[in-house]
Amino acid sequence: MAKKKKGPRQTTGLKCSECGTFNYVTQFNKVNEQLKEQTKNEKTFPLNKYCNVCRKHTSHKVAKKLK
Ligand SMILES: [Zn+2]
Repeated sequence: MAKKKKGPRQTTGLKCSECGTFNYVTQFNKVNEQLKEQTKNEKTFPLNKYCNVCRKHTSHKVAKKLK
């Protein structure tokens, strides 16, 4: 039985906010994100990424946590 790993690192997907296509899978460190928000007052997400369906850069939101 594999134990559930508890860590700040999370795997998430990035979804295009215009067409809703799941374009990217990324990992980010939750703790680092919170630190960044507190110190620099800036957020990593949503990200501007290229969408193949829209054929342009759109803002990509974090989709639900993957397994
Ligand atoms: Zn799109």
